Amino acid sequence: MKAIVIEKTEAGTSTALKDFPQSELMEGDVTVRVSHSTLNYKDGLAVTGKAPVVRRFPMIAGIDFAGIVEQSDHPEFKPGDAVILNGWGLGETHLGGYAEMARVKGDWLVRLPEGMTPAQAMAIGTAGYTAMLCVMALEQHGLTPDQGPVVVTGAAGGVGSVAIALLARAGWEVIASTGRVSEADYLKGLGATSVIDREELSQKPRPLGKERWIAGVDSVGSTTLANVLSMTRYGGAVAACGLAGGMDLPSSVAPFILRGVALLGVDSVMCPIARRRAAWTRLAHDLDAGALEAMATTIGLDEVIDRAPDIVAGKIRGRVIVTI
Ligand code: NDP
Repeated sequence: MKAIVIEKTEAGTSTALKDFPQSELMEGDVTVRVSHSTLNYKDGLAVTGKAPVVRRFPMIAGIDFAGIVEQSDHPEFKPGDAVILNGWGLGETHLGGYAEMARVKGDWLVRLPEGMTPAQAMAIGTAGYTAMLCVMALEQHGLTPDQGPVVVTGAAGGVGSVAIALLARAGWEVIASTGRVSEADYLKGLGATSVIDREELSQKPRPLGKERWIAGVDSVGSTTLANVLSMTRYGGAVAACGLAGGMDLPSSVAPFILRGVALLGVDSVMCPIARRRAAWTRLAHDLDAGALEAMATTIGLDEVIDRAPDIVAGKIRGRVIVTI
């Protein structure tokens, strides 16, 4: 079967599209014929070898897939079922989604929601499902659109684009922070009310800044997240899921102890199955199909290695579907 395989070399890693024996797929009770995958930031890191994402070699890259069950010993799935998988170590410790076939634990699978195509599921992918988890975290904190605006950082990226579409549809005033102000029309088309230059959030953070928003979805981390926290209104919260700008957090405790601001951590990889199902059900109902189409581009498996450096460099707009 065709697969994008990462191998360990003396210099680091090498990645190539090649034939991989199906007999070497790892243990699992469900075998899936993969039809679509996607390009996430973490896939970019794995394929380029820029960060030690892969912890088993050889590895088939790809942290997501959508496909049809071919064989199953799992009580909940039978041949012909349409399924999605995000994370659980796929493409890191378990052979991943950039392949014609995958063998995985049935416990990791989510059923493709009714009315959603496999291509739409991968237009959403891990980035979009994580955006949904961020929105759910803000809601669970009790935040509602009538309390004030929400800021979305890394706005033109995958998590950012889906977060904007979801929040705007839910009635939020969305402030989109981007390094690509040339994408203002794209961001407003997704539902952003206003667009700010990420330079505004790249200055040395003060312990407390002017209160600008009640909520935030941050996929950038570092100085950006520190600035977002310092400008969050009293009682607000920020859902943090990413590190596109760096892993550090040069902040202070001031927003937490003087304004009661909460920092809500969001992880998609090991997220319990019930919350995943809830997120995918919400995505099927709450994400505008037109917005999803506007943010998605499609590439073939043979283009993934060429496009991977672009996502690490922050040059990809929205989401990339990979057809297998
Ligand atoms: P993308 O590359 O699509 O989006 C990231 C965006 O961040 C870019 O488009 C850019 O937006 C902005 N950005 C990039 N570099 C910088 C920088 N140096 N400083 C400030 N902003 C920058 O990636 P994804 O949306 O797929 O992922 C975003 C982040 O979220 C990644 O760090 C990823 O690892 C993380 N993530 C975490 C998950 C979890 O489970 N916690 C799951 C999914 C993703 P713009 O041009 O608009 O400024």
